[in-house]
Amino acid sequence: MANVHELYSELKKEMRDSFTLESIFAILDFDGETIMPERAEEFRGEQAAMIQGLRHEKLTSPRVGELLDQIESMSTDWAPDSVEAVNVREWRRDYDQQVKLPRELVEAITSTGIRGRAAWTKARAEDNFALFEPWLEKQFDLQKQAAEAFGYETEAYDALMDQYEAGAKTAEVAEVFAGLRAELVPLIQALQEAPNQPDMSKLEGSFDIEKQKAFNRQVVSTLGFDFERGAIGITTHPFCITLGPHDIRITTRYEENRFDTAFSSTVHEGGHAMYEQNVSLEDWATPAGTPVSLGVHESQSRFWENQVGRTRAFWSKWYPLAQETFPGLKDVAMDDYLFAMNAAQPSLIRVDADELTYNLHIMIRFELERAVFNGNLAVKDIPEAWNEKYREYLGVEVPNNAQGCLQDIHWSIGIMGYFPTYALGNIYAAQFTAALEKQLGPLEKLIAREAYPEILGWLRENIHRHGRRFTPKQLVEHVTGEAPTSKYLVDYLKSRFGGWYGIEL
Ligand SMILES: [Zn+2]
Repeated sequence: MANVHELYSELKKEMRDSFTLESIFAILDFDGETIMPERAEEFRGEQAAMIQGLRHEKLTSPRVGELLDQIESMSTDWAPDSVEAVNVREWRRDYDQQVKLPRELVEAITSTGIRGRAAWTKARAEDNFALFEPWLEKQFDLQKQAAEAFGYETEAYDALMDQYEAGAKTAEVAEVFAGLRAELVPLIQALQEAPNQPDMSKLEGSFDIEKQKAFNRQVVSTLGFDFERGAIGITTHPFCITLGPHDIRITTRYEENRFDTAFSSTVHEGGHAMYEQNVSLEDWATPAGTPVSLGVHESQSRFWENQVGRTRAFWSKWYPLAQETFPGLKDVAMDDYLFAMNAAQPSLIRVDADELTYNLHIMIRFELERAVFNGNLAVKDIPEAWNEKYREYLGVEVPNNAQGCLQDIHWSIGIMGYFPTYALGNIYAAQFTAALEKQLGPLEKLIAREAYPEILGWLRENIHRHGRRFTPKQLVEHVTGEAPTSKYLVDYLKSRFGGWYGIEL
């Protein structure tokens, strides 16, 4: 009979194959998003479906189930936090997630997603929620079935969030969000009423796109993005994707009349990429060498984008180069530019929101999803509930559903339980920063002396190298000594925005 080490090696090989298939799918995806000609779409669909099918077959093969059962029934000398123990535990988690959904349900979610997405596109274009409503109803219903199939302890919504943020509990997240909301709503109001307001026109000008590319390359390379193991492409929606252990791609979108947008999105995606580039290489293609969750991933991108990339300490070094590169900036004082870059203004559209108000856009989606899931809100009443919350939390009137509850694609394709990870990312980022400062001193000083290797080294040591060893919540506790709390984010936002607006908060 095979010993546990042989069984582990066999399982590891199986899982590596499925990981390889996933990376091939990622190459098809990256190409499709960047330079693939439009008419290639149909055949690309066939290629992608074949690879996905093979991958699903690998992941759910009876042999994988057998190997897991056998290994789990044997006694080993693996410490609970050893790479082997972590991998077996997480492979089990992945396997269960893959096999728990009945095939018909997976197919129903996919086909409803395709037709629902088409209905959503039309509904949004025509500002007609009724066109989308039956599909949304169906998608919520299918997601409830998925939650039942996955199983949960207290609330069905837990099962959905668990796919993106392992172990996250709805009630806990709701409590953290409620605390954050109670602070943010009056904070936003105070900023609106402050005598000092940013002049947003300072951000506008003429910015040669080739020069923007060169500038952004130089910045992310200085921060720690490794161009020997990564590249930057161009897409409408920026993203980061891993094609292999030494091939992490990011994309960005350029505007001729704005420079800050591509800059921030490049640094943001660069933050995601630096997480991917700094996981443990010897554990690559196993859970021990894989980023832990979307929330923690987002904490890394937001850290570089906001905590670093919007500060005076950072721009004191880079603004002179920006002025040299883009002559229009010569007449714009650095602080005027930065104040506009750090504006907090309530708005209707999530993807355009600033780092402060963004959190409220997320909470609204979370609260509505949860309410529908728990039977406290009917799908037909979503528009009214949406508008009411935008009024209450952000003080804005939603003029139509196209700019309201129809703005995001996610629900149409059955992505629910996902939005909270964005706000969790902000919460974790501020909490991690506080822990980093305890050990390395004020971040501002580190930035001022361009101690980026030290900063990235800290993130690698404390966050990246752990892979999926801990759940996100355990990781936060491990790194910061506390459960996730919004208090650091609130302190950070008060000091950042109070500083720019010149008010005591
Ligand atoms: Zn992101």
